[in-house]
Amino acid sequence: MTKVCIALNAGSSSLKFQIFEADAANERSIVFRGLFERLGGPARFTVKGEDGKQLDETSWQDSDSFGHEKALLHLIAWLQAHKGDRELAAIGHRIVHGGAFYDGPVIIDDNVIANLESLTPLAPLHQPYNLEPVRIVRKRLPKIPQIACFDTSFHATQPEVATTFALPREIRERGVRRYGFHGLSYEYIASVLQEHDPALARGRVVVAHLGSGASLCALDHGRSIATTMGLSALDGIPMGTRCGSIDPGAVFFMIRELGLSADAAEKMLYTKAGLLGVSGLSNDMRVLREAAPTNPDARRAIDLFIYRIRREIGSLTAALGGLDGLIFTAGIGENDVATRAEVVNGLAWTGLQLDEGANTRRGPKISRGSGPSAWIIPTNEELVIARQMRRVIADKLQPAAAARA
Ligand code: AMP
Repeated sequence: MTKVCIALNAGSSSLKFQIFEADAANERSIVFRGLFERLGGPARFTVKGEDGKQLDETSWQDSDSFGHEKALLHLIAWLQAHKGDRELAAIGHRIVHGGAFYDGPVIIDDNVIANLESLTPLAPLHQPYNLEPVRIVRKRLPKIPQIACFDTSFHATQPEVATTFALPREIRERGVRRYGFHGLSYEYIASVLQEHDPALARGRVVVAHLGSGASLCALDHGRSIATTMGLSALDGIPMGTRCGSIDPGAVFFMIRELGLSADAAEKMLYTKAGLLGVSGLSNDMRVLREAAPTNPDARRAIDLFIYRIRREIGSLTAALGGLDGLIFTAGIGENDVATRAEVVNGLAWTGLQLDEGANTRRGPKISRGSGPSAWIIPTNEELVIARQMRRVIADKLQPAAAARA
């Protein structure tokens, strides 16, 4: 009987999954992959097979209140009906915050759940949605091992100076420091750089993960040495609905002078700021690009996004001591030709030169000349979850089998 594992990536309104063989020779051979989107509203489930062909599609009405729990139960039932003689061996989860507790994947038990719950205030937009499927699986499939794979752990290689806030010791000792996020995405990019450009894999690289959540990471020899997000996923560049870096004084002003409660201020900074807040129109780059020619607020939001990305690339280049390459990834990075052009064209001082034709054709290499190179590399967080899960299964769940192999 073939053993299969599920890699789950749960967001606030989506649940992505990939189902793969636990010990396939080709790590990219996926048995099934799919997505639940618009959870809590008019939800939709789509699933594809090994060959990329769509196998199933189901939609629900707004009134069905189809949320994460129903989605996971639907997935388990769908898998039961379609798995043939395959047996489910483990489930791996993307967990945004591992805090100071974990610098690598871990098998989930009561203690792990308690630790991860204690980090919810640091990632209120993500951690509860990441943990919900964990609880559902424990209730419904208590014998299936679950593995937590963290967005923070890739940044464990950063030097102390990059993670320290200038705060008194008694505050720092409570875990108030920079952690960084999108680590599964950065780990994937670092792992495939060698295939694109072996010298770059050993060089000084900035990766721009530009999706609804967005951050940048400085890689030196494929290891994270600095990143734009900090204690929470609010810091860094403006995002779809999140503010990015902000003077802490602005938060006190909003609370004291504008009368916002701390909770209201936090909610605003997570859900009503960023591209949505500045444009007053949308958090979706596609909508903003379409509106920008005639809507100054949409243009203002895009300009701020681009400006902040360029400034952060300057800062990360300083941390690296130079720049050999820039990688674009995630929804906006992979798809928005204009964002890539506006970012790269503002970085001529680094020697970066855009190859406009290649940028329009989606690369992968989108630069020319002898300066630093620029690339588009689609990310694959689920593959990293799968890799980490395979490693944990081999090390911890089947140590005897691993020793024999
Ligand atoms: P992600 O969180 O990585 O799925 O990225 C989501 C964001 O990518 C969306 O909010 C859009 O703004 C952006 N996006 C997706 N497709 C495109 C596209 N074709 N052009 C511009 N932006 C896009």
